Order: sequence, then structure tokens, then C-alpha cells
Amino acid sequence: MKLLLVEDNLEDADFLAASLRRHKVSDVELNHVTTLRDAVHQLSLERFDVVLLDLHLPDGSGLECVDAIQAAEATTPVVVLSGQDDEDFALSILNKGVQDYLVKWEGETRTILRAIRYAVERKRSELRLNYLAQYDPLTEIPNRQYFQEQLERATARARREGRKVALFFLDLDQFKVVNDTLGHDAGDSLLREMADRLRRSIRAGDIVARLGGDEFAVLLEGLTGALDAETIARSILDVIAEPFHINGREVTVTTSIGITIYPNDNSDISTLLKNADIAMYQAKENGRNNFKFFTESMHAELLEYHRLEQEIREAINSELFTLVYQPKVNLITRKLEGLEALLRWNHPERGAISPNDFIPVAEQSGHIIPLGNWVLNEVCRTLNRWQATGLPVVPVSVNVSARQFQQADFHKRVAGVLQRQGVDASLVELELTERLLMEDTASAQDCLQQLKGTGVRISIDDFGTGHSCLNYLRRFPIDVLKIDKSFVHDADQSEDAAIIVEAIISLARSLQLATVAEGIETREQLSFLVERGCTVAQGFLFGQPLNHNEVVPFLEDLIDDAAGFATARLPGSAQRAS
Ligand code: C2E
Ligand code: MG
Ligand code: MG
Repeated sequence: MKLLLVEDNLEDADFLAASLRRHKVSDVELNHVTTLRDAVHQLSLERFDVVLLDLHLPDGSGLECVDAIQAAEATTPVVVLSGQDDEDFALSILNKGVQDYLVKWEGETRTILRAIRYAVERKRSELRLNYLAQYDPLTEIPNRQYFQEQLERATARARREGRKVALFFLDLDQFKVVNDTLGHDAGDSLLREMADRLRRSIRAGDIVARLGGDEFAVLLEGLTGALDAETIARSILDVIAEPFHINGREVTVTTSIGITIYPNDNSDISTLLKNADIAMYQAKENGRNNFKFFTESMHAELLEYHRLEQEIREAINSELFTLVYQPKVNLITRKLEGLEALLRWNHPERGAISPNDFIPVAEQSGHIIPLGNWVLNEVCRTLNRWQATGLPVVPVSVNVSARQFQQADFHKRVAGVLQRQGVDASLVELELTERLLMEDTASAQDCLQQLKGTGVRISIDDFGTGHSCLNYLRRFPIDVLKIDKSFVHDADQSEDAAIIVEAIISLARSLQLATVAEGIETREQLSFLVERGCTVAQGFLFGQPLNHNEVVPFLEDLIDDAAGFATARLPGSAQRAS
């Protein structure tokens, strides 16, 4: 054990040396200096296991001595030597973080040695605790707390020196998939390797931290501008895109990076992290595996998001949402085949807000869960209202969002609503988007099976816009494919769209699914689809979405079988004209 004794009283120093010799203590190497300055110098040259520090030195006294030693070397334990007279003071000095104090030299050498050993022990556990408080145990890189402290220091330095700091917020794009398919151990290995690669792609002095989960942050100092940050972001993307080898398997993942630059973007630390986080989401939305700089317009977007989020919450509570129903028409029997329930929000000040604007916010904020629940209940109430007046009814479809579908008990919730409202499950169809089902096909299959068990019909909305895996499509218990309106719009004009529409219809036929063409606006589009064998259509050509009272005449038409929906309400189709 290497000991540095800082003591100007030579008698005291000799006493310690002599008693160590007397007790034949051989594992202690005693180094002696007499001034603070020499002590600081010595600490800069070599490592000591413990410093024994007198508080009355020629070039300093009291707290000053402790401060000077701690500033020179923070990780070495310090034992203060106090005279009988300043014992109270020595006690108060323990609060400065020194490990112990000894009253000179009242104990035996053994007591002194024990005190020294304990001091070393205490320092070690203190350092360990500090480490745990500052580092992520899995990846052994700094944690969020430490990162924030460093960020604070870095921005202060940048302010002083007129330089820039870049903050990266990284999120792995496919971490959940790795975790779910290869297991948590594999996920852990991936995170460790990810931390390693990140550490290797930055310069010494820059910091990589794990903020939690699969989120990492990088702090770059001394930048001249955004270009520097861009270069490093690119190299990080490249390094991460290299295949990982985990449990003997090759895994490829990508990452999305949000970048904010201080002092360009904003001033306080929490805003910086938030800005980088927002930019990261943008990078993800732009197709992942890329980076995005934070901009003020993102900030404005965020404010708008929060405003809408708040207003949706209020609108749910005050029941300001309504439903409209758009007819689906059977092109063969020319009768009303079903209805699609669509949300409407008439905002007291801002007028009608499109579902395309508020549904994404409701999804992201989670409000879609109570809202979707309200939709299903309202559809059931409407069906009951129609039936109570003796009207025939048709199945009504309800759009379901990812957030709803991903609830483990979603099928139970659906079954519960149907049961409480006394509505036959065959009268309800759930529309799920293709994208949602393709994201995690294995669990989607299970969820669909459970939903199917409740007796509802299932259709895939906006079909053709996602990346369908046909293998899965065959295994999904679905009833209907809805051809996305973008293909329907172009089908009679664009060769590509026409080919896609034909392919979807023939695929549906081979899987024995019905097809519904969405968004038919013109007779040309209608005849194109009829010729290709599409069976059901929906679109402005047949009617705008209607409120539940306006739907009544269409239901009444179903009573008179002979006249039928088509003759009474439909515009004459190309087929009929012949
Ligand atoms: P979607 O489910 O694909 O609904 C069809 C959309 O196309 C509706 O827009 C409808 O009004 C519109 N549309 C119908 N015929 C035509 C046409 O001939 N031409 C054109 N250009 N458009 C037509 P809407 O009502 O604005 O809804 C937009 C989207 O919002 C829906 O797309 C659906 O994804 C979502 N949405 C609406 N209501 C709900 C709901 O209750 N829950 C959930 N989760 N999503 C909903
Ligand atoms: Mg739909
Ligand atoms: Mg659709």
C-alpha cells in the first residue's frame, strides 16, 4: 500500500515511520512531503492508495488543504490528521468527503493502520457507488444522469469559447424485433455491441451515453458547424448498419438520429434533449436509417401536436365527436352491402377537422383507445336504433388503429361491447390497415385469430400500400381486402395502378376473399373495376358519408327487394347503360 504523508512536523512524521518499523509493517510504503504544493505535485506524478493529511501546513490550513488535495486527485482516499485541539473541526471536515480523521497519534500503530485500511475500503465503495450512479451497468457507458451533467458543462464551455456543441439522439429501428424474436439476451448483446461501436466512432473527449432502452445519446464538442455533425452522423449510420454477430447469428439493424446544435437551436439542457428527440422521430418517419437536424418548424409542429392532443381529450369528454356512415355497394346485386363508420369532429372554433389530422395525434397520445371504444359503442347504439324501428340493417365496419389492436385484451373488449349492447357480431366488421398487420406478423396472426373468434368480420384497409407478405396473408383469418383509393383513382389512367388493381382482385379471388374498392369517384373508375371482377365498391360516386338519419332511406330500400338499392339510389352504371 502506497501512503502519502503530508506533514510539516518532522517529529510526527518520524513517529509514524518509527511505529510502522517497530511493528514490522512491510506492506506500507511511506512517502513523506511537508507542503501542500509538494503533495499536489506528488499526486500528479504517481498513484497513492491513501493520503494522510495534516491540516496545519506552511502553505495552507484547514479546509484549504482538503480542497487542494481533492482537486488534485479525487479518487484517492484522504485521512485527516488532527491535533487534540481541533477535533471538532476535523469532524466537520468529514462532510467534505474525506474518509476519516485520526487524532495524532493517540492510538497504537495498529489502530492507525486499521483506520487507513478502512479509509481505503470506504473510498472504494464510494467510487463504486459513484460509478453505478453515473454509468449504465449493461453497456458500461455513461447513463442519462451523467450525460445531462456533462451536457451542462459542455454548453457552458461552448458559451465561453464561442464554439458549438452537437447533441445526437439515437434510437435503434428494429430493436423490438430483435428482442422479440431472438430473446432478451440477444437484445442485451446487441445493445452492448452498439455502445462499443458508438464509442469507437467518436473522438476522445466526446461522450456516448445510454439514455434507456434502445436510446443512446452522443455529445460532440468543439464543432465549427453543422457539417462536422453531419459527417459524424453519417459515419455512425454506416458503422451501425454493419451486420452484428449475436449468438452465432447475423443480425442487421439500423438507427435513426436526431441532431440539435447548441447554441443555434435552443438554450436549456432539457430543451436540447427534447429537440434532438423530436428530430429523431422525424428521421424515423422519413424512412429510418437516417438523420435529421432539428428545425424550428418541428418545434411549431410539436406545439400543434400538444394543442390537438389536449383538445381531443376535451372533445372525448364533452362528446363532440360524431360518426358518419359511407355506403358500400354490391356491384352484382346492386344493393347496399354495408356501411363504413367514419369519425367526424366539428371543432367549436376551428370547424371540421379531418380524421387524417386528428387520428395520428389520437394514436400517438393514446387517446385512440377511449375514442375507438366510443366509436364501437356508438356503432352498436346506431344499429340498435335502426333495428328498433324495424329497419333491415347491413354490417357496419369500424376502423381500428394499431394502438387498439395491440392491446392484449382487444378481442375481449370487442366481445364485451357487443355483448353489452346486444349486437350480433356478424353485423360488425373491423378494418385493420395492412401496414399494422405486417409489422409483427407472428403476433398479428394470433390477435386476428382471437378477434375472429368473437365472430366479427375482418377486412384489410388501404390494401396495396404496405409491404404485404403473401405467405402471411394466406394464414390471416380475414374476409375482405379493401383496395386503396390511390390505385382506384389511377386505375383507368395509369398502367401500373391498373396492374396492381388486377393483381389484388385476382389474389383476393384465389384466397376466397371479397374485394372492396375504395374511393370510386367516376363512372370510368367504376366500369374498370366492374370489368375486372371487383364485387363491392365505396366512394363519392355512390354517396358521401351520411349521418345516421340520412342513412335511413338507404336501409328502407332494402325492404323492397324488387326495386333495390341500385334502381332507387345508385347512379346508372356503365353496365346498366348497355
Ligand atoms: P379509410 O378508412 O381508408 O376511410 C376512407 C376515407 O376515404 C374516408 O376519409 C372517406 O371519407 C374517404 N373517401 C370515401 N370515398 C371517397 C372518394 O370517392 N374519394 C376520396 N378522395 N375519398 C373518399 P375520412 O373520413 O377523412 O377518413 C380518413 C381516414 O381516417 C380513414 O381512412 C381512417 O383511416 C381514419 N379514420 C376515420 N374514422 C376512424 C375511426 O373511427 N377510427 C380510426 N382508427 N380511424 C378512423
Ligand atoms: Mg377504413
Ligand atoms: Mg381506406
